[in-house]
Amino acid sequence: MVRDVLARPLASLRVSVTDRCNLRCRYCMPEQEYVWLPKDSILTFEEIARLVRVFAGLGVEKVRLTGGEPLLRHDLPALTAMLAPIPGVRDLAMTTNGLLLAKQADALRRAGLRRVTVSLDTLRPERMRALARSDRHADVLAGIVAARRAGFERVKLNTVVIRGVNADELAELIEFARVQDAEVRFIEYMDVGGATEWSAEQVVSQREMLEILSRRYGAIAPVPAGADPAAPAERFRLPDGTTFGIIASTTAPFCRSCDRSRLTADGTWFLCLYAERGMDLRAPLRAGASDAELAELISAAWRGRTDRGAEERLALAGRTVLYPREALRADPRREMHTRGG
Ligand code: SF4
Repeated sequence: MVRDVLARPLASLRVSVTDRCNLRCRYCMPEQEYVWLPKDSILTFEEIARLVRVFAGLGVEKVRLTGGEPLLRHDLPALTAMLAPIPGVRDLAMTTNGLLLAKQADALRRAGLRRVTVSLDTLRPERMRALARSDRHADVLAGIVAARRAGFERVKLNTVVIRGVNADELAELIEFARVQDAEVRFIEYMDVGGATEWSAEQVVSQREMLEILSRRYGAIAPVPAGADPAAPAERFRLPDGTTFGIIASTTAPFCRSCDRSRLTADGTWFLCLYAERGMDLRAPLRAGASDAELAELISAAWRGRTDRGAEERLALAGRTVLYPREALRADPRREMHTRGG
């Protein structure tokens, strides 16, 4: 296992398969226009599978397909079927906005996808229209139902909580998740690249979420960290046993245990969500580098990793957006929808 300067293992890889998305969520893609990655720079399935094999050889055991919206990439089950049997990959998962999930859930499950996380920020269609510029709330709900029927090991729901937008829906979302036999995870609004409308006032902290929920449910107990201490969500249990998670990346970051890195659809590898620059793996891959040469490039970079992006942001006085719009247009790899959230 390869460890970085802070002894964090290279264990988890998020693979963005496209920078395109069919929603325009206010916390991720609020602009009218975007600069997209050039088509010929996008890795083929064979190239992605080869890189994942090299990462797995270095100790990566958790792989998550992301985007943009991963289901916009044509024939994602085919890529899933290439990744699932790679030795060492014990957890193959996907994060999706759910719009296209109902049609593909069975094929993805059959191809070897084990877990699915669906973004669900609100239970109210009119709020989704305002938050994500989409009328397709019913398709997201159908996607969640289809995921459960397809027999994934676990279905999680991700909710980005924003003051004045959906902070009054926490209990409703927990109730919805319970009925769906899923677990909801509330995510603090993050000042990542692309969140050009972020402000500290709109962040609902983990502490405040717990206060809101205890007023409704009574005492809430923390659930001890399970088999994966690097998991980003802290989990909690209501008095009736229902569990939920909170990802407190903005007010209580967990960089000290972070084993995650991110591969963009054009083969740029980022050691941190907040990293200024990534490493180009596409160029050596297409220039004929051997697996051993790629492995050496990757492990040398990881051994030198000191990134603690969210902790450094927390220490800033007068925290504001990470990048202004012009800086994002100058390099689309700074966008969260390109890095895979
Ligand atoms: S900010 Fe960077 S180091 Fe911290 S948890 Fe996120 S990806 Fe990991």
